[in-house]
Amino acid sequence: IPSVRGVVHNSHDVTERWLAEAALRQSEERFRSLVQHASDMITVIDADTTVRYQSPSVARVLGRTPEDIVGTKLSTLVHPDDVGSMLAVLSDVVSKGDGVAVAEARMLHSDGSWRSLEFIGTDQRQNPAIGGMVLNIRDVTERKSLERQLRYQALHDPLTKLANRTRFADRLEHALIRAARTGQMVAVLFMDLDNFKAVNDSLGHAAGDLLLTTVAERVQGCLRPGDTVARLGGDEFAILLEDVAAVDDATTVTTRIFAALDAPFELEGKELLARAGVGVAIGGHTARPGQGEQAADADALLRDADLAMYVAKSKGKARYEVFDPSMQVSMMERLELLADLQRAVERQEFVLHYQPVMLLKTGELFGVEALVRWDHPRRGQIQPKEFIPLAEESGAIVPLGLWVLREACRQAKAWQRKYPMSQVWTMSVNVSVKQLQHPAFAGEVARVLKQSRLDPHRLILEITESVMMHDVEPTMERLRELKALGVRLAIDDFGTGYSSLSYLRQFPFDLLKIDKSFIDDVGRVAGRRELTSAIIELGKTLDLELVAEGIERTDQLARLQALECELGQGFYFHEPMDSGAIERLFATLTSESEAA
Ligand code: C2E
Ligand code: MG
Ligand code: MG
Repeated sequence: IPSVRGVVHNSHDVTERWLAEAALRQSEERFRSLVQHASDMITVIDADTTVRYQSPSVARVLGRTPEDIVGTKLSTLVHPDDVGSMLAVLSDVVSKGDGVAVAEARMLHSDGSWRSLEFIGTDQRQNPAIGGMVLNIRDVTERKSLERQLRYQALHDPLTKLANRTRFADRLEHALIRAARTGQMVAVLFMDLDNFKAVNDSLGHAAGDLLLTTVAERVQGCLRPGDTVARLGGDEFAILLEDVAAVDDATTVTTRIFAALDAPFELEGKELLARAGVGVAIGGHTARPGQGEQAADADALLRDADLAMYVAKSKGKARYEVFDPSMQVSMMERLELLADLQRAVERQEFVLHYQPVMLLKTGELFGVEALVRWDHPRRGQIQPKEFIPLAEESGAIVPLGLWVLREACRQAKAWQRKYPMSQVWTMSVNVSVKQLQHPAFAGEVARVLKQSRLDPHRLILEITESVMMHDVEPTMERLRELKALGVRLAIDDFGTGYSSLSYLRQFPFDLLKIDKSFIDDVGRVAGRRELTSAIIELGKTLDLELVAEGIERTDQLARLQALECELGQGFYFHEPMDSGAIERLFATLTSESEAA
């Protein structure tokens, strides 16, 4: 306690005086004991910040003794960076007169660490018992670090340690403000992984997490220190590039990211590819000739990039697109198409084309695959890759798929009657996971078979590999029900998903269709050749009939024959064709076999 002044002098009565002094002593002691035992440091300073009193708790807070401190100027005890703001706050209190003020500053602990301290200052210069500025000083180091942690958590993705959406939006806003000043542009890349769900579903969440963190690291490796990568959620990432001079700068980075993702990922001893679709949007001060209105704000820029990403994804895997205002139109078209799709089944706008499936050894016909086309009243014929995903999203696939199944079975039976050929031949129908998810699906197939009187064994239902990874158990049950009907089951586009061998064994498949991407290189690229022959080996071990998809060249055929792949389809033999063209083909085959 600083020297206590203003003791009562003017009492005439000794007893009274004694009592008064005793009372004062008592309150002084109470105060002293309070101050001594307080966990806060209590410091009294002069107008020139020289410490006049220091409570003993300085030992707890800074590992020093009051004697160390008393007589020194506060400014020499505080972190140099904090002196300015600290003194400003104190002088504020003084000038306000009545004031209490709160400041924060760091002070050096005797162990060499800087402690974060909170100063509550009250002006007690007019109080004769104190006559100085009283500082209540509390160690807030832990609270500060907790605050830092919370701030970090609020702005970062815990899994990848990347910025989150909030931080990204904030950085983007600031970048746009800077860009407006400097006349530069900024680019936003919106990235979404292909097939992430399949990895998660087939290999588990731990593997999915590992994939995300690896992708995050690789993407960061492609950027400059000032650029920002954020994980927006799920498998969506956003990248902010500053100081972009031209669109090319952004697409160069995108290409670099694709190259970084190109190397296979090692997950639980398995190698897999993580490809991504990327949408690029450019914003900022500089007008972009030919690109129309530039995005006015951060939200719009992110939305543009998102839309461009969506367009990129709809065009295939591992692609990027630069945002173009016309994309908004194509989004409108998509919505229109969706509305049209709902009515297309009742209006009977769908037709089936058929692609022959061949026995590779002899070149004889094995069967046909039914492939749906949409004869749109205004747009003409639309290919399945443009409307099947829409139909799956909207649920229209269920009535559409049922129509395909009915029509294919009816047609198969009609052809059998008309062209009684010697070859065993089959009708393959593609089935969407959305159909498979319906508990009534097997019952419907049974009904269609009965109505068409098609031998169940002639019907092959094709299910895309990646599709089976979702909800394995119900899928498995549905497949068993179908199997019990006597129909055959094929796994379609094999190699594009992530099924493992042991996993495949559990499913009751009869045929395995090797995805076209493997067949493309089978005759030429050495590594792919090995992979394809491994798939063929695998298929044989599992007792599956093998079908090569998308054969276009003689060298592919020769190679597949050498690998003893039994079946194949592709433009090399026949493109998908309408029922009339198929009938003409059957007619020539029938007359050939009659001539033979
Ligand atoms: P998919 O079942 O794998 O069918 C094979 C696709 O490859 C067909 O495309 C076919 O025209 C094409 N193709 C065949 N041989 C070659 C070739 O040598 N070169 C090239 N470049 N392509 C070849 P399409 O008809 O456009 O069908 C695409 C996909 O749409 C199908 O792939 C299938 O997944 C889906 N799809 C088609 N019809 C239906 C359907 O009725 N229901 C469902 N759920 N999906 C269908
Ligand atoms: Mg198919
Ligand atoms: Mg296929």
